[in-house]
Amino acid sequence: MEHNSEVVAEGKLIGETTYQDRAQKYTELQIGNIKIDYYDAKNKVIHEVKKSDKAEYAHIAQVKYYMYVLQQHGIEGVTAILEYPKMRQKQVVEWEDGDDSMVQEWMKAIQDLIAQDNCPPLKKKSICRSCSYYDFCYSGEDPE
Ligand code: SF4
Repeated sequence: MEHNSEVVAEGKLIGETTYQDRAQKYTELQIGNIKIDYYDAKNKVIHEVKKSDKAEYAHIAQVKYYMYVLQQHGIEGVTAILEYPKMRQKQVVEWEDGDDSMVQEWMKAIQDLIAQDNCPPLKKKSICRSCSYYDFCYSGEDPE
């Protein structure tokens, strides 16, 4: 659903307007089931721009998954930088011991969820408001 999400489009716009020279420096990388908007191939660094004004663990999880996929394709030694233009902050994310099994556990949990006959009940969380799947998850809910 991300390709037509206004939330994703807004984040992309912030990334493009805040760092206008990065299109020349970094490449877009599509590999496996992921697409990294800004990849510094020379230094093996993923740059992920977040429009959020709050750092979330989900942001770290996202880039850890990207690193995992890159490793699966033989690209080792990758790090990531989460960039928060609104907060003027950056966070370096590195691959650590145990991350391999952690990511595999996430994938297993997702596969188990997908294999269920019924969709689990909605857990309303504040993060839902900025999630690109909001319309999908809340389509049958009363607006609040
Ligand atoms: S909107 Fe749906 S997918 Fe997004 S965080 Fe909420 S429950 Fe999860």
